[in-house]
This record gives sequence, structure tokens and C-alpha cells, in this order.
Amino acid sequence: MSAPKTVLILGGGVGGLVAANRLRKALPSQHRVILVEREASHVFAPSLLWLMVGARTLPSISRGFERLKRKGIDVVRGEVEAIDPERRSAVVSGQVLQGDYVIVALGAEFCPEAVPGLAQGGHTFCTPVGAEALRVALEEFKGGRLLILTAAPAYKCPAAPYEAAMLIEADLRRRGLRDRTQIDLFAAEQGPMGVAGPDVSRGVRAMVESMGIGYHPEHQVVAVDPGARRARFSNGVEAGYDLLVYVPGHRPPRAVAEAGLVGEPGGVSVDRHTLATRFEGLYAIGDVTSIPLKLGKPLPKAGVFAHAQAEVVARSIARAVTGRGQPAEFNGHGECFVETGGGKAGFGSGDFYAEPVPRVTLRGPSRFWHAGKVLFERTWLWRWF
Ligand SMILES: Cc1cc2nc3c(=O)[nH]c(=O)nc-3n(C[C@H](O)[C@H](O)[C@H](O)COP(=O)(O)OP(=O)(O)OC[C@H]3O[C@@H](n4cnc5c(N)ncnc54)[C@H](O)[C@@H]3O)c2cc1C
Repeated sequence: MSAPKTVLILGGGVGGLVAANRLRKALPSQHRVILVEREASHVFAPSLLWLMVGARTLPSISRGFERLKRKGIDVVRGEVEAIDPERRSAVVSGQVLQGDYVIVALGAEFCPEAVPGLAQGGHTFCTPVGAEALRVALEEFKGGRLLILTAAPAYKCPAAPYEAAMLIEADLRRRGLRDRTQIDLFAAEQGPMGVAGPDVSRGVRAMVESMGIGYHPEHQVVAVDPGARRARFSNGVEAGYDLLVYVPGHRPPRAVAEAGLVGEPGGVSVDRHTLATRFEGLYAIGDVTSIPLKLGKPLPKAGVFAHAQAEVVARSIARAVTGRGQPAEFNGHGECFVETGGGKAGFGSGDFYAEPVPRVTLRGPSRFWHAGKVLFERTWLWRWF
């Protein structure tokens, strides 16, 4: 019997949740798997878009972390305040936790305050609280100018603002308000889902514009005046609104930055195949990482990558502990559904590690892909809790 080991997983989002489950299954019971998380519940983020238009409730897309204890995962509810990468330890709400292996899966922190007035003047669907508030605001909206904007050129889930625009458009149509509403999407980036290549970008833009949504790329918002209901952009353009919906920018969590783990701008530097950091036994996965691609942009922050990276790291650690199993590598494959409203979705998939540019294809909207997304949602919480 090998000496008992402890795997300390920081963060119970997509990456941490998958890693904890996989490790608990792979490791004999004398080894500990500790999952540290500040929230009481895990929320399935893709469904926040449906929550925003009243098609889901928060309880239906959440599960309490307590349930993981039944599987033998030690859940520690608390705030990761500091990380010591050399010692593989973390301070969690004042208590020091130590691991033989550490997986940093703390995600990326939203920073709407980077744009003055944005949080006060608008609503975001990117957090559970924000999506609930936006649902109410949309219910009360009776027509006018609806502005959707991305507050930075890179953000979590490159498809999300485009899906949001199309879902809101479909919802307003269903409620008979579309004729009374002008919808404009102001994007800080050059075009939709740029990392996926020009064909995908053109395809998503065509989907959005075919719904009569005005699309304005390369508009970086610099300030919002909540009183006057106006957004100002760095190129001098100003736009008034009746309802403002935004995707905030993000930054690495404070504890990660203070630990000196942030190498690449925007995240922790890791080996792109093993997710190992430069510290022995310490891995980072998901949105907290920054993996540069040949085309000059980093790998997008998306759950599909956090999930696949968690599988790889769990297998590597299980192999190191037990001496069993095959080595695994993250290969950059990714896929995502693109909800277009009216019970339809498109589907993009491909190799994001392909060089010189990612090779990604986009399938057009159909009921089939929407059903695929619903099925994925249904199985996610059941599978991991
Ligand atoms: C609206 C929306 C829709 C999306 N749709 C998709 C989609 O369709 N497909 C897709 O692939 N991706 C999608 N994403 C992106 C996806 O949710 C993220 O990329 C994914 O969750 C990243 O996983 P992660 O484990 O790296 O981080 P997260 O899932 O963000 O998890 C980080 C966890 O760490 C916890 N934490 C952070 N700091 C601390 C601390 N100091 N102490 C304790 N706990 C802490 C957080 O509470 C959180 O639970 C979407 C995102 C949003 C917002």
C-alpha cells in the first residue's frame, strides 16, 4: 500500500469539480481529495443564458457542494486567501491546507469596475445574481433601445454575448416587443469568436445580423453614464440605451496573482499539454491559465477546455500516486453550442492547437444542436454530483 497522499484542489467550478470526481474514483481511499470552494453551490454557467430569459430557475441549474461528501471528496467551504506554490499549500479562511499535489482551478475574476459606470448602468448575465436581475429587467422592458456590449476583447466563453443577443431577440419577438426594440451589439473585439478563425467569425456574425441586430465590432467601451443612459467608446462614438446588457472583462484571482503564478498576461503559465506549472506537483487548469496560441491570441476561456484539462491532470496525478494508467495530454480540441433562439443552436468544433491557426468548423443552426445542448445540461449536474 502506497503512503497516503493528499490532492488539494482549489476551486469547484468546471475544472475543479471534474478533477475531484475523477481523482476520487481513481485513488484508493487512503488518499485524500480535498476540494476548496467559497460558494455553497456549483452553477452550470451555460444555462445562465436561459435563466436570463426566464427559461430556467437558479435551483434547477445548481447543486450544493455538500453532496460531494457522499462520494468521499472532502469539501472545504472557504476563501483561498493565499497560495504557496513551493510548499504546495494554501491559506483557506485563515487555515493552512497542505497537499502533495495541488490543482489551481480558481477561474478568472470578473472586473466590471474597470469601466466606470458599467456595473451601475447595466446588467450582466455572466453571474447568477446578474442573470436573475437581468431576467427581471427584461420582463419589465417594454421596448426601446437595447444595447449589448463586451467590455474587453477577451472574456469567458467567446460565444456567450452573441448567444445572449440572439436569445434576447427571440424572447422579445415571442413577447411581441421586437418591432418596438432596436438591438445593437457593440463588441470590443474585431469580430465574433476570432480565435476560431475567419469562417466561424463570419458565420456567427451572419447569424446575428440576419436577426436585425446591429453589429459594431472594435468598439471599446470606456465609460457608462447610468443617469443619462449613455455608453461612450474609445473611438469617440456614444450610444444611448434603455436597457444595457454587458459581458465584463476579467483578471486572475488575487490569491493567484499574489502567489507569483501569473506569467502570461491574463493567467498562469502552464505546459500546454500537461498543465504543469514550473512548481513541482502544482498544476493549473481552466480559466485561471493563459495558453498562448501561434495566431497571437490565447486559448479561449471556456468550460470545454477546463473539463478536458481536468481529465488530463487527474490522470497524471492518479498515475503518479498509484503507478497505474496511461499518460494523458491535453490536445486543444474544443467544441461549443451557439444558441440562436427559437429552439435552435449552431455547433462549432475543432482543433485549437492547430498551427498556424486553429481549425474549427461551424454547423448551422438546427433543432438537433439545441437538443444536444439541453441533453448536455441535463447530464452535467447528474454526472458530477
Ligand atoms: C454565461 C456564460 C455562459 C458560458 N457558456 C459556456 C459554454 O457554453 N461552453 C463552455 O465551454 N464554456 C462556457 N462558459 C465558460 C465556462 O463557464 C468557464 O470557462 C468555466 O466555468 C471555467 O472553469 P474553471 O473551473 O476554470 O473556472 P470556474 O468554473 O469559474 O470555477 C472557479 C471556481 O473557483 C471559485 N473561487 C474563485 N476564487 C476563489 C477563492 N479565492 N476562494 C475559494 N473559491 C474561489 C469560484 O467560486 C468558482 O466556483 C460560459 C460562461 C458564462 C459566464
